[in-house]
Amino acid sequence: MAAPDRSVAKKRFLAFLQHKNLRITAQRKAIVDTVFNTEEHFTAEQLLKWSRQKDKSVSRATVYRTLPLLTESGMVHEMDFGKDHKFYDPNYADHPNHNHIICQDCDKIVEFESEKIEQLEGEISQRLGFSVKSQRLQITGTCEELKRLGSCKKKACAT
Ligand SMILES: [Zn+2]
Ligand SMILES: [Zn+2]
Repeated sequence: MAAPDRSVAKKRFLAFLQHKNLRITAQRKAIVDTVFNTEEHFTAEQLLKWSRQKDKSVSRATVYRTLPLLTESGMVHEMDFGKDHKFYDPNYADHPNHNHIICQDCDKIVEFESEKIEQLEGEISQRLGFSVKSQRLQITGTCEELKRLGSCKKKACAT
């Protein structure tokens, strides 16, 4: 699989920090490296865990302070599936129009794009005299494993 050029998004985010006169501390660098090195959607706690694998000194407070900056910069997208934690999408800058389906049980998230949705957007906005700025479709369901095996592998690993 050809990895998209995530270093561009990372550079843009670092420029954003600089523009706000925020220092790029070692902790923050570990967090930023983590975010722009994963293709997976993550929660704040996951980000904390992954960042600590790079730099043990990363604190929860720094993660929670850095996340709003990431979303404000537009390089990462915050998603609310109505669960008790939000999810963050590191692929947003590369594919701002993709959609998500999430397993209600194990929180597995899969991205998808669909021309039909784009068509529908076009039709609806034209009919109502709007122009589309953004759209998001979030589907909650049961993943294939849950359906087939009665439980999610991902959940068994996490607990
Ligand atoms: Zn995504
Ligand atoms: Zn599942």
